[in-house]
Amino acid sequence: MPWISRGLRGGILTSRYPAQADGYGERWAGTIRLRHAGGGEARDSTGLAVACPTQAIAVTGDGLELDRGRCVVCGRCVTLRPDLVELDHATEVGSLARGDLVVSTGEQGDEDACAPLGAPGAAPGSLPGDDLARLRASLELRTRALRRSVHVRHVDAGSDGSEEWEIAALTNPVYDVQRLGIFFTASPKHADVLLVTGAATAGMIGPLRQTYEAMPSPKVVIAAGTDAVSGGLLAGGYATDGGIGSILPVDVWIPGSPPSPFSLLHGILLAVCLLPAAPGRNRSHDTRPALVPHQPGDPSATQGSPS
Ligand code: SF4
Repeated sequence: MPWISRGLRGGILTSRYPAQADGYGERWAGTIRLRHAGGGEARDSTGLAVACPTQAIAVTGDGLELDRGRCVVCGRCVTLRPDLVELDHATEVGSLARGDLVVSTGEQGDEDACAPLGAPGAAPGSLPGDDLARLRASLELRTRALRRSVHVRHVDAGSDGSEEWEIAALTNPVYDVQRLGIFFTASPKHADVLLVTGAATAGMIGPLRQTYEAMPSPKVVIAAGTDAVSGGLLAGGYATDGGIGSILPVDVWIPGSPPSPFSLLHGILLAVCLLPAAPGRNRSHDTRPALVPHQPGDPSATQGSPS
């Protein structure tokens, strides 16, 4: 484990994310990335769409289209066509708009062609830049009161259990989310953030709504993991409507099966507007400090535990 050797070497175990990027966070294959699929290559890649168990990949007139919100990171497409798709080790993969998890490649044929479909002609549900900015501004207004400490209620709405392991890791000494003023609570009446995992099975729809209704305002909802975003492998089956989007007003969408603790933390910080959103973009190499640095005596500073 890289963090053990780092702890033994430096005596510091706890991550400094998001103030400082953690290299080992990006060893996790959080989702899939399109490499290039222009013209003939794309037309020659119909096998990818057939191989994908969740219909996350489609071949369009211009190239390939990938819905990260449907991808369960099984790796079949990477094995089949490593020239067209690859594992993506980015940690900051969450988005404020469901449609921005849909990425495509066009005729350019290089890695940077991978872009969110927010422009005219985009996939259903994606938002143009202005609408996304308005969404962000409205969320920021709503969550202004949550900047100093955030209480999170987690609900398993039909998960396979993998997301729960990663959520549990958030409170260990490596991630230590309490240092950022983030706490988990058992009571929805004390919660600001509803963190939902699982495909929202029929039996969990009622409890999920009750939990949401019991939370005081302002409140935000995070769909954590591909199952919560789209239903994953269960989408289209009798047991689920396909994610929580048809049940609750989702503010942040985190793809991944499961998402890494860093991706979950990024999503929570996005939900309370403590990180700038860069929806749909691969920010795996973006190491800029994300939070406002702590200023001693500044009550609005975003670093440090409020306790
Ligand atoms: S890794 Fe994702 S996109 Fe590729 S085949 Fe599996 S589910 Fe589909």
